[in-house]
Amino acid sequence: MIPHPQPLALSTNDNAKEWLDEHCRTSLEQARRLVDELKAAPPRETLAVLRQWNDIQVALSNVASVASLFSEVHPLEAVRGGAELAMQEVQKLDTDLGLDRDLYEVFAATDPAGLDPQASRVLAKTLLDFHRAGVDKDDATRQRIRELSERAIVIGQEFSKGIRDDVRSVRVTPDRLDGLPQDWVDAHPAAEDGLVTVTTDYPDVIPVSTFGKDAQTRRELQVAFHNRGWPENDARLQELFAVRQELATLIGYPTWADYDAEVKMIGSGRAIMEFIDKIADAALESGRRDREVVLARMRQDVPGAQTIDGADLRFYAEAVRRESFDVDAQQVRTYFDFDRVRAGLLEVTGRLFGLRYRPATDAPVWDPDVTAYDVFLEEAPGAEQAPAEPLGRIYLDLHPREGKYKHAAQFDLVRGVRGRQLAEGVLACNFPRGLMEHDDVVTLFHEFGHLVHHVLAGRTDWVRFSGVATEWDFVEAPSQMLEEWAWDADVLRTFATNAAGEQIPAGLVENMRRADDFGKGYDARTQMFYAAMSYDFHVQAHEDLTARTRQLQGRYSLFPYIEGTHMPASFGHLDGYSSAYYTYMWSLVIAKDMFSAFDRADMFDPRVARRYRDRVLAPGGSRDAAELVTDFLGRPYTFDAYAAWLAQ
Ligand SMILES: [Zn+2]
Repeated sequence: MIPHPQPLALSTNDNAKEWLDEHCRTSLEQARRLVDELKAAPPRETLAVLRQWNDIQVALSNVASVASLFSEVHPLEAVRGGAELAMQEVQKLDTDLGLDRDLYEVFAATDPAGLDPQASRVLAKTLLDFHRAGVDKDDATRQRIRELSERAIVIGQEFSKGIRDDVRSVRVTPDRLDGLPQDWVDAHPAAEDGLVTVTTDYPDVIPVSTFGKDAQTRRELQVAFHNRGWPENDARLQELFAVRQELATLIGYPTWADYDAEVKMIGSGRAIMEFIDKIADAALESGRRDREVVLARMRQDVPGAQTIDGADLRFYAEAVRRESFDVDAQQVRTYFDFDRVRAGLLEVTGRLFGLRYRPATDAPVWDPDVTAYDVFLEEAPGAEQAPAEPLGRIYLDLHPREGKYKHAAQFDLVRGVRGRQLAEGVLACNFPRGLMEHDDVVTLFHEFGHLVHHVLAGRTDWVRFSGVATEWDFVEAPSQMLEEWAWDADVLRTFATNAAGEQIPAGLVENMRRADDFGKGYDARTQMFYAAMSYDFHVQAHEDLTARTRQLQGRYSLFPYIEGTHMPASFGHLDGYSSAYYTYMWSLVIAKDMFSAFDRADMFDPRVARRYRDRVLAPGGSRDAAELVTDFLGRPYTFDAYAAWLAQ
C-alpha cells in the first residue's frame, strides 16, 4: 500500500526566514548529493537511473516552488529577499545540471528497452532537455551559456521588481473622481491638502478607467500606468532579449522564438506569426464594427472625435454596455460580495469536479487574509462520504497588500508525487474586500482552473508530469474553459445574491454575456498586438522599443498609441512568456472547442465533467496536450468553435 503524504509543515511568520532558509538548504543539499551519487555510481537499470533523477527533480522543485511563491507574496521583506536568492540558487543549479557532461553521459548510456511508456517519456524528455541546455557544446560555449542563463534570471527578476515596486499615482481634487462607485470614494478620502491619491494598482486603475467621468484624470492615470518601470526596465528588456537571442544561437536555433516554440504545441517560431495573423484576420470585421459603436458613443460627449484610444476605451465601452445592453456594472457588482463569491467558487468547482474542500484551520498562513483548504476527491459522483485522505491542499491569498504580487496567478507550493508529497497550490490575486466586479469573478474562476489542474494532476509517479505540466501553450485552456461557469445564469444564481438576498436575474446575466462579447474582435486584435510584440522582440533587435511598439500597435491593435507611454516596460509577460504571449489565444481556441462538449443546459453533467477531469486534467503532463484533448473530445481539436464565436 502506498503511504499517504502529509501537507508541507509551513512555519509561522516569527521564524519564516529561518524556516525558508533551512527548507531550501536541505533540499538543495539533497539534490547535490544525489547528483554526485548518480554520476559516481550510476545504477545499471535505466529505470533506477530515472528514479534517482526523479528524486533530484523533486528536491529541486521543492525549493523552486516555495521560493517562487514567497518571493512574490510573503509579507516580510526579508523572506521575499531570501526567497529570491534561493530562486537564483536553484535556477543556477538547474542550469549547471543541464550543462553537466558527466551527468548527461549517464543518460546517454541508458538503454530504453523495456521501459514502460511513462518512463520512456521521461527519458526522451530528459535527453531533449540536455540538448536544449547545450550540453553537447564545447567547454567555452557551455561556459558562455551558463553565464547567459544566470544573467537572464537576474535581469528577469529586476524587470519584475521594477514593475512591482513602481507604484505610481496621480493626485486629484475629489470632483475629478465623479462617476466612481460610492464604496470606492469612501475608501479614498482626500488628504489634508484636499487631494485624493489614485494609484496605478488594479483596484484603483480599473474603476477609474471604467467609471471616472473626467477624461483628463483617466488619461493621466493611463499614462502613469503605462510608464511603470520606465525608463529602467527598458534597458533591462533590451539586455534580456539580447541574452536570449545569443543563447538560442549558441544552442543551434535561428531565433529565441524557434528555440522556445520547439517544446510547445505550436512547434515553430514561424507558426506563431501565422497564428497571430490568422486570428487578426478573423477578428477584423467584428472588431471594426464594435469600435465604430464605441466611437459613436464617445462623440455624444466629444463632438467630432475622430478616434478613440486606451485612455477612453474602457469608459465608453462601459457606457455602451450600460446603455445598449442594459448592464450597469455598478448594479452588477452588488451581487458579487467577496465572501459569497469565494464560497460559491468552491461550491461550483466541487460539484463540477467531484471535489470537497475542508478548511485547513491548522495550516499556518503567511498573512491573516490567506485561507487554506484540504481538497478531497469524491469516490463516486454524489457519494456521501469523501475519502479520509486529501488529494491536496490549496491556499487562497486574494487581497492586495504592500510588496505583494500585483496581478492574479496560481503558484505551486508543492508539486504532488504519488505516495510521496501532497499537491499544494496557491492563488495570489488582488481583489477588493467588499463588492467585486464581475470581471474579478471571472478572473477568480480562471485562476482557480490552474489551481484545480495543479491539484488533480498531483498524483503522478514522475514529478516532471505533475500538475500543470503540459505544453505551455495549452496551460491556459482549462482555465479559460472554467470561465464559462462564471458566465452561466444557473451557476451564478447559486451564489450571486445582493444584500437583500435576491439572486442575480437570469436576464441580467444574459445581457452581461452579450455585453461581454461586445468588443471581442477589437480585444482579440489588441491581444495579437501584445503577441506580436512578444514574438517580434525575440526574433529581431530594435534600437527603440517604444518606436517598434508603436508600429506593431498600428498594425494589429485597432486603437492608437498614447503619446508619452512606454508600455513594454511594465508588460511583465515579456519575462515569463518571452516570445510566447500568443499562448493565451492559442489556448482559447482549444478552450472553446473543449467547451463545445458540454451542454449549456446542463453545465454540471457529471459524465462530461468527470471525463474532462480524468482525461484532460488528471494526466498532467504525462501525455501530449493534443492527445489529451483528442481523448476527451473523441476527435482532434479544431479552430471552428472559436471562429464561430468570434464571427457572431
Ligand atoms: Zn491563466
